[in-house]
Formats: sequence, structure tokens, C-alpha cells
Amino acid sequence: MDVTNLVRDCIKKLQPYSSARDEYKSLNDDMVFIDANENPFQTQVNRYPDPNQTPVKAILSKLKLVPEQNILLGNGSDEVLDLIFRAFCEPGLDNIITLPPTYGMYNVLAGINNIQVREVLLSETFQPKVDEILATADANSKILFLCSPNNPTGNSFNNDEMIAILSSFQGIIVIDEAYIDFSKASSWITRLNDFPNVIVTQTLSKAYGLAGIRLGICYASEEIIAILKKIKPPYNVNTLTQNAAIDRLKNDAAVNEEIKSIMSERNKLQGCLDQIPFVEKVYPSDANFLLVKVDDANKRYEQLVARGVVVRNRSSQPLCENCLRFTIGTTEENEKLINILQNLE
Ligand SMILES: *Cc1c(COP(=O)(O)O)cnc(C)c1O
Repeated sequence: MDVTNLVRDCIKKLQPYSSARDEYKSLNDDMVFIDANENPFQTQVNRYPDPNQTPVKAILSKLKLVPEQNILLGNGSDEVLDLIFRAFCEPGLDNIITLPPTYGMYNVLAGINNIQVREVLLSETFQPKVDEILATADANSKILFLCSPNNPTGNSFNNDEMIAILSSFQGIIVIDEAYIDFSKASSWITRLNDFPNVIVTQTLSKAYGLAGIRLGICYASEEIIAILKKIKPPYNVNTLTQNAAIDRLKNDAAVNEEIKSIMSERNKLQGCLDQIPFVEKVYPSDANFLLVKVDDANKRYEQLVARGVVVRNRSSQPLCENCLRFTIGTTEENEKLINILQNLE
């Protein structure tokens, strides 16, 4: 498959903006930089950020064993996802496929970009229905979103279904791995060479504890990365974000300890929730949250808010009737939640 055939004509023809820092890169030597209309006085951030985020990518490349030229960074995964829409989807003409219940941003981004959304519900066990997905696709189905582990259901998609889709779908396949660090399943970034139309997105917002800095990561073939690079704003990841990301990624051991603790708290919370009389089902989770079916989600949601605990009410989502989503907190926060739930009438 040649992914360049999927790119919008206007993007193929686009001459990208060449920033001052693109034209002359090295800020390290003894040069005088009077090329970007910056203020010369030091504020720590008086210079424009590195448009290629080279040091961040170098660390990520070592950690994830993916070459730097297969990595693109964005202002959160949300920016990366928007870049993918704008590269491949012609407004008013193309469509995307999503698998509800899933992450709401795919539909919002489709709306912003005037792209039709075709929805194929997950199965009762929250797995993709391969035949229905393939039957729904046509030549204008440019992107299929596979969120695994999926939000809000928490499960990973089975390998067999994934492989069946990856071997047949003719557009771009985005595998959203925002929660991959909490999963026993391995990331699809190891299979990029086998599937030239796959884009894997990850983020520092969840396991890495840096939601506030906004750093999203995209792994894909060199061809796809080159296309997205053409349309990304040159300075899309600011200096403060790059520095914070480097500090945190260098401290991968601490991150792994936190992930372990969150996963063990998840299992503990799951056991406790199973004992609550009005809890009807706790779905298995590969993420840092649990989807929980209760007797009356709106009532339980209000009761929890009144007692100072805010959870996410997902009961309006298909297949999620009377479901609440609980993010795993600290040991103390989880104990507080259980305590309150045990005492609800
Ligand atoms: C939280 C989340 C993201 C993260 O988005 P950022 O913009 O990187 O914070 C992406 N995808 C899913 C499914 C999520 O739940």
C-alpha cells in the first residue's frame, strides 16, 4: 500500500513554512542569532523552541526502540489526531470510522473538519466487529480509529480482530494507545514495518503524569511522519513542555513505580467494588480506570458528588447503560471512594 495515495491533494501540493530555526538549526555554538526577531535578553524562554524537538525524540527513541524519523510530537494527542484529519480527510467528501463506545474527540475533530463519521458499535464484550467494519468502509473511508485499551470500556482489543482489520482496511488506521502503559498487551509500535498505513498515538498525559504540559506522541512510517511534519505548526511543542518531558522521561524508573502502584490499586479497587450491593458489574481493565455498571448511574453519580467525589457518568454512551467510570486515585482516595460507596443507601 502507498499511503501517499491517501493524502489530500492540497497537502500533497503544499509548500511548508520554513521557520528561522529550520533554516539554521544549531543554537549551541557561538553564533549571533538575529534571524527570528526574538528579544535578545535572557528570560529562559526568549528563543523559539526547537521545531523538531530533537532531544525529546532521542530519549523516546531509546526508550521505545523506534527510530527518531518515525516519531512526531504534538500539543497533546489531540493535536496529533487533528493533524491526521487535515492530512488525509477532504472536508465534505471523506469519512472516518469509529467504534463506539469510545473516546469522544474523534467525533469532535471530524465535526470541526466537516468529515462524515460512520459508527460501528463494539460487540457486547467491547471487541471490534471486523466484518461490519470492513463492510462499512468505502474508498472515502480515510481513517479508522482503534482505541486500545479503549476509553471508556478499559479493555484491549483482541489480537485476532486487530490483525484481521490491519490486514484488510485500506485507509489509515490510528491505534490510540493513550493507556498502553497500564496494559499487559504490548504496543503496536513494534509492528510499524508490517503495516505502512498504521499510526500509533501515545501521550504523556496518563501514565507519565504530565497532562498539564500537553505532549502527544505519534509513531508511524517515515512517509506518514513526513506528511504530518509538513502541516504541523513549526513551534507546536513549547520549550517548557520539552524540558519537562525530558526530565520525566529520564526518570523512567519512577514512572514505572507509579504505574505498578496504580495497577495494584486498580486490582484492589476492583475486588472491593465487586462487594458493593448496587454494583452490577466491574468490567476488566487494562487502563488506569474501571468501568462500573451500577443500579442507577445518575443517582449514584449525584450521591458521590454530594460526598465530594467526582466520577465520570458514561451512562449516555451506547452499551454503557448505568455505567460510571472511576479513575484510579491514590490509596487514600480509593479507600475514601470505597468507604462512601459502602455507606450509600
Ligand atoms: C486521555 C486520552 C488521550 C490523551 O489526549 P492528550 O491530548 O494527549 O492529553 C488520547 N486518547 C484517549 C483515548 C484518551 O483517553
